[in-house]
Amino acid sequence: MTSGPALSIVNVTKAFATPEGGEVRALDDVSLEVADGSFIVLLGPSGCGKTTLLRCIAGLETPDAGEIRLRGERIDHVPVWKRRVNTVFQSYALFPHMTVAQNIAFGLQMDKVGKADIDRRVGESLDMVRLSGLGSRKPSQLSGGQQQRVALARALAKDPEVLLLDEPLSALDLKLRRGMQTELKRLQRETSITFVLVTHDQGEAMAMGDQVAVFDSGRIVQFGDPEEVYLRPRTAFVADFIGEANLVTAQRDGQSLSIDGLGLTDAQALANPEATETGSVTVAIRPENISLSESADGAGIVSDVTFVGGDIHVDVELGPNRLTVRIPSHGARPPGVGARVQPIFLPESLRVLADA
Ligand code: ADP
Ligand code: MG
Repeated sequence: MTSGPALSIVNVTKAFATPEGGEVRALDDVSLEVADGSFIVLLGPSGCGKTTLLRCIAGLETPDAGEIRLRGERIDHVPVWKRRVNTVFQSYALFPHMTVAQNIAFGLQMDKVGKADIDRRVGESLDMVRLSGLGSRKPSQLSGGQQQRVALARALAKDPEVLLLDEPLSALDLKLRRGMQTELKRLQRETSITFVLVTHDQGEAMAMGDQVAVFDSGRIVQFGDPEEVYLRPRTAFVADFIGEANLVTAQRDGQSLSIDGLGLTDAQALANPEATETGSVTVAIRPENISLSESADGAGIVSDVTFVGGDIHVDVELGPNRLTVRIPSHGARPPGVGARVQPIFLPESLRVLADA
C-alpha cells in the first residue's frame, strides 16, 4: 500500500452535447486530492457537476481530459468492475427478486469469492449497518431507510478503497436523515474506508465532511474543512450558499476599506491574504456577527423586523447596502422599524471576497 492521497482528480474536464446542438461543461478543469481514510463531501446546487464527477471516478463516464488516480495509479482506463471503488446510488438500486443477503452476496459471487467467505462478509456487513436478522427479507419488506442500509451493506461488503455516495439520504425524511448522517460518520470511522459523499444540502455537508469541496458550475471554488468554508468563504457564491451572509459593496484602497453607506472601518478588516482586489469589492458578513446600537446619528435605518423562532432578524438599510442582523429573541428588545441604528461588528468578521 502506498502512502499519499487515496484518490487524486487532476484537471478533469467533461462536456456533454445538448439537444440544441450546444455543449454543457459538466466538469471544467476539476482537481481534488482526497486524503486516505477521510470523509469528503462534494457540495453544490443541482446541475453543478457532482454526479458527473462521481461517475467519472466510478468509471461510468470517461473524462474528456485529465487523470483519475487511485492510490497513485491511473484508473481512467480501468473498467468499472476492476476499480476498487463502489457506489451507493440515491435510488438504492437493489434487486427486488433477491433477498437482502442475496443482494449483498451478488457482487462477491461475481468476484468469485468463496462461499464461506461470502457468508462471513454478508453477516459482517449486515451487523455493520445494524440489520442482522433481516437477511432473508425481500427489499419490498423493508422501509426506505432499511433499504438504504442494505445498499450500504452491499457496497461495504466488497471492501472498496473508496466508497462513493450520491445524495444517499435525500429520499429520507428529515429525522431519519439526521440519524443516518450519524450512522454514516460512524461507519466511515469504523471501516477507515475513504468516503466521497455528494449532497446539495449545506447543513448535511457541514455535519458530515472532514472536508468540503464546494462546486459552482462545473468548478470547485473552495476546498477546506467546514469551519474554513463557513468562516473564510473565498467567493460570494460560497458565502451565500453556505449559511446566510450579507454581501455588501465596499471601496478598498490599500489598507483601508469603506463600506458604502457606513464609512471607513478599521484597516484590520483586511487581514485576508487571499483578497487582493482593490477598488470596488464585495464583502461578506454573517448576520450573527453584527449587533445594533440605537442612536440618532446612526448610519442605518431599520426597514423590517421579523421573529424567527429563537432569533429576530432585523433588516437595516445602509445607503445602497442592506444588512440582515440576527439577534437572540431572549435578549434586549430589538429596535423598531424606522429607528436609526449603528451597526457594530469586529473588523475580523468582515471577509473581502475574491471575484471567482
Ligand atoms: P449534479 O449532480 O451536480 O446535479 P450533474 O453532474 O448530474 O449535476 O450534471 C451536470 C450538468 O451536466 C448538468 O447541466 C446536466 O444537465 C449535464 N449532464 C449530466 N449528464 C448528462 C448526459 N448524460 N447528457 C447530457 N447532459 C448531461
Ligand atoms: Mg446529481
